[in-house]
Amino acid sequence: MTTPQTPAPHELAALRRRYRLERERRVRPDGATQYRDADAEFGYYAADPYTEGPIERDPLRDTVDVAVIGGGFGGILTGAHLRRQGVDSVRIIEKGGDFGGTWYWNRYPGVHCDVESHVYLPMLDETGYVPEWKYAPGDEIRRHAVRIARKFDLYADTLFSTGVTALTWEEASETWTVTTDRGDSFRAAYVVNATGTLTDPKLPGIPGIEDFAGHTFHTSRWDYAYTGGTPRGGMTGLADKRVGVVGTGATGIQVIPMLAEDAAHLYVFQRTPSTVDVRDNRRTTAGDVGADREGWARRRRENYLRIVSGESAEQDLVADRWTASAGLLEKLLPSFRRQGGRQAHEAAYEAADAAKMNELRARVEQTVTDPGTAEKLKPWYRYACKRPTFSDHYYPAFNRDNVTLVDTADTHGIQRITEHGVTAGTTTYELDCLIFATGFNVGTSGIHSGKLPVHGRGGVQLLHRWARQGPRTLHGFTSNGFPNLIQMGPLQNASSVNFTHILDEQAIHAASLIAAAEARGALIEPSPETEDAWIAVLAEGAPDHEWFHAECTPGYYNREGRGRPNGPIAYPHGAVAFHTLLERWRDESMGEVLRNRTVPRNKAVPRNRTVLRT
Ligand code: NDP
Repeated sequence: MTTPQTPAPHELAALRRRYRLERERRVRPDGATQYRDADAEFGYYAADPYTEGPIERDPLRDTVDVAVIGGGFGGILTGAHLRRQGVDSVRIIEKGGDFGGTWYWNRYPGVHCDVESHVYLPMLDETGYVPEWKYAPGDEIRRHAVRIARKFDLYADTLFSTGVTALTWEEASETWTVTTDRGDSFRAAYVVNATGTLTDPKLPGIPGIEDFAGHTFHTSRWDYAYTGGTPRGGMTGLADKRVGVVGTGATGIQVIPMLAEDAAHLYVFQRTPSTVDVRDNRRTTAGDVGADREGWARRRRENYLRIVSGESAEQDLVADRWTASAGLLEKLLPSFRRQGGRQAHEAAYEAADAAKMNELRARVEQTVTDPGTAEKLKPWYRYACKRPTFSDHYYPAFNRDNVTLVDTADTHGIQRITEHGVTAGTTTYELDCLIFATGFNVGTSGIHSGKLPVHGRGGVQLLHRWARQGPRTLHGFTSNGFPNLIQMGPLQNASSVNFTHILDEQAIHAASLIAAAEARGALIEPSPETEDAWIAVLAEGAPDHEWFHAECTPGYYNREGRGRPNGPIAYPHGAVAFHTLLERWRDESMGEVLRNRTVPRNKAVPRNRTVLRT
């Protein structure tokens, strides 16, 4: 690997021109409307292949203290911290057949977390678990989700294979009515929305997609009954199959080398190449990470957050390609702490960016033997335009005789799907199996999707109110007119490449709010003035990243080439500062969102602690 060299000014100018041309080649007039949801006639792409059932059960009509929507890490951590606060009656409602969220659904071959497992897996100090690999495979992560759920006794009242369909505030009882697609209609004093940001699979709206007569599925619903094998490979069912895969994002990069090994022939339909940096995954021991010392995981996670948020740190404990490239994450994370003056900073940033991208393009050339294929795999955009990816197996896969890269950039992706295969350019590729690694509807799950209407005080719908005024919250968690509803997620909150850390802090905050309201017999609801003050804090320091994303190649970071939405979307001074701010606010100011109840609160009786598997 060559050491990144700072490019000369004329090289930077040439790169700018090249990036502009590549962007123009890719922007589509239909933008984000090019995709289709995996519902209605495409609902089978989102069906659960991992759980048989669902088992019949009677609809619930009872009352709980807290309803938590979502059984991924956000929901599990909320449940865990509520238990620590002494809240017994907690009901999690989860669409999947078990805990794990994204790690329940994504079981495709090769699935790993690309953030170091020792900082990604939450509650390692609390559970005593030490991950086995630097980057954990999906099943180890899923097992850890279950470990936390068991430790905090969350199975007892969780409704699996159940989707929440509406939330309605009942003024007379000052509770939420929660309705579900299993006929439930129960009440909850508090609701925490932990539905995640990358939840609903999306499909490309390619003409003829419904005509394909071969086998087809989305990577987040892997059909092992058809392919055979496990997430570790061995897909004997593909030995005589011509397989096509659409998509070369973070998922495609992990799945393509596995398919290359097992398929008779693999066609990779690429529209935009990802950046693929060194992975260097390896087994680790407790000694490697200092796991014999108390609080080791918390210290490591905080060290990581500091570095990838732009803060200084004495040591880089994780020392991987995320931390080495941390300076380039500024435009990717709305809450990244930028140091130094504007103009000099932008020039230095562009030079570092170009050096990194040159290094990554050189990596392709050094690995892929066919020069034409190598050229097509080179990414031509700035580092933070697309989600960085990491693999040591991806590029070598293209040196195999049974792998063909089909570049579809000139035609904005595949033009047509037919009964027998895929047409790209002037060629039709006959396929037995077509796999979509085309990602998810971003940031539109749960109450942000419109599919889960939330009616607050006076029957006002949350999204209607936000459509008029833009999102209005305090710290991203609570909104006026929607008492005792707590939202998790990055909106008007903080973000990080290690999102489970953010979720853990959010869960601590949610549980603290509920415990304080319980102790005071109060409702949680910020005033409009408190919301105004928070919006002002967000707006005051909001970084101007709009121009950057407007110049980027299209993708979900810039609404398919249209640029980021205007207005503040996250706390602008970094995740570390945000967590300090929240902690201080809990100590000093939490009372400002606690209002007297008009109806006394009847505490719910916790259900029997029997595992309710549905
Ligand atoms: P992405 O949205 O990142 O990628 C979708 C891919 O499908 C892109 O390559 C896209 O091309 C391609 N595509 C879409 N439509 C077409 C079309 N009509 N023709 C050809 N290609 C098409 O989805 P992923 O599932 O890869 O990743 C989603 C997110 O999930 C990641 O960004 C990451 O945050 C997370 N993730 C995290 C992992 C981890 O290890 N932590 C692992 C996997 C995913 P184009 O780029 O041109 O739009």
